[in-house]
Amino acid sequence: SSGSDENDVVVIGGGPGGYVAAIKAAQLGLKTTCIEKRGTLGGTCLNVGCIPSKALLHSSHMFHEAQHSFANHGVKFSSVEVDLPAMMGQKDKAVSNLTRGIEGLFKKNKVNYVKGYGKFLSPSEISVDTNEGGNSVVKGKNIIIATGSDVKGLPGITIDEKRIVSSTGALALTEIPKRLVVIGAGYIGLEMGSVWGRLGSEVTVVEFAADIVPTMDGEVRKQFQRALEKQKMKFMLKTKVVSVDTTGDGVKLTLEPASGGEQTTLEADVVLVSAGRVPFTSGLELDKIGVETDKGGRILVNERFATNVPGVYAIGDVIPGPMLAHKAEEDGVACVEFIAGKEGHVDYDMVPGVVYTHPEVSYVGKTEEQVKALGVDYRVGKFPFLANSRAKAIDDAEGIVKVIAEKESDKILGVHIMSPNAGELIHEAVLALQYGASSEDIARTCHAHPTMSEALKEAAMATYDKPIHM
Ligand code: FAD
Repeated sequence: SSGSDENDVVVIGGGPGGYVAAIKAAQLGLKTTCIEKRGTLGGTCLNVGCIPSKALLHSSHMFHEAQHSFANHGVKFSSVEVDLPAMMGQKDKAVSNLTRGIEGLFKKNKVNYVKGYGKFLSPSEISVDTNEGGNSVVKGKNIIIATGSDVKGLPGITIDEKRIVSSTGALALTEIPKRLVVIGAGYIGLEMGSVWGRLGSEVTVVEFAADIVPTMDGEVRKQFQRALEKQKMKFMLKTKVVSVDTTGDGVKLTLEPASGGEQTTLEADVVLVSAGRVPFTSGLELDKIGVETDKGGRILVNERFATNVPGVYAIGDVIPGPMLAHKAEEDGVACVEFIAGKEGHVDYDMVPGVVYTHPEVSYVGKTEEQVKALGVDYRVGKFPFLANSRAKAIDDAEGIVKVIAEKESDKILGVHIMSPNAGELIHEAVLALQYGASSEDIARTCHAHPTMSEALKEAAMATYDKPIHM
């Protein structure tokens, strides 16, 4: 029962930040309740983010491979087609299996799960409008706000989730649009653009800034953009969407150069608004207890995830820092460790970023631009996948590894990978950075042959010496 018994920890929000914090708290012996309004656990990530997007990326990749690559491998068949309802069904099954899995973990770890909308009555009391229609008060010595984020709208553009969609609508289209316009060239826009592009949509990405994915190393970004262009994704950079007209059959966008100038129009069947995400705190009644936020609405916390109100903490997308599921999880564990009187630690400079297109792009640490700006003397080692035997063997060799190391000490400062499965390859580099390794440490570590990972070893070699296979 939740009601009147006091908890050690109450978590508001059951996303990757909140549910992980709740499980960890229970594992540390704290009496824990998690409040979630969605009806299922896993938050944005599991329900309408990371997981369904990766399901569709994989399914659409298989279709694309069948159309464009199988014949090169001597696999022939007379025709291949998309069964969209079946594809969506496999995505939905993956999501529901995983959300139920978290419910199972809650039971196993004795986390009390309250389904409903939480708001503060006081720093230790949460009023919950339950999904069943009632109300209850949940009390806790410590409250963790893990309410995550929501789609950022654009002025003058109404998202109807049919013709003008957010990522949520783009994960559930019932037809393959002939023309898809993506507003915003961040990773979410590029991933969803890739899904529909592979299934047959003509995809145009409109971006106000001069570059796609701003957090990416410039050199890798250039190659990445070229790779996407080869897949027929079109880019209109430094371009502003002035208005969107849905009165006709399709959608008519009016565009203008970011720096001003002549307007043009662009037609679409579906428009995806993916211009970023904003922290979600509406309905929480933070003002009632005086929790401080920044101008963007993010909750301000110290290095122990404590807000300015004693006993109230915040983690994940709702606080400053990279808006990523694995970062939210790290926040959750560390926050609870602090509450339990232990030490916790999260280093936002060591949070890897991954774009799950094909090829994938992953990175950790600093970009070359950032290293330059710091005025540090550095060396760069690069190795192309065209010279990697495994990538050649499977005929999927587009990509590069780039290692940046401090010149004097050879300490690794940043690693950037574009390749199939780059999201898996990056963790060796994350570990290296975390342990303060040098590029020579990686280069002198035996890597299995033939693997894509050897490209990282060779790029590390190239940083202070010469690679063997180039
Ligand atoms: P959320 O996951 O947003 O969870 C917050 C939860 O709190 C929600 O379920 C919400 O219903 C609940 N809630 C809010 N207010 C209340 C309240 N008052 N009472 C009760 N419950 C409440 N990240 C990655 O790392 N990798 C990816 O591949 C990736 N892909 C993505 C793809 C898409 C399309 C999107 C949209 C996001 C993606 N992300 C990805 C980002 C990732 O989803 C977020 O960083 C992550 O979900 C943040 O976790 P969180 O726990 O802070 O918040």
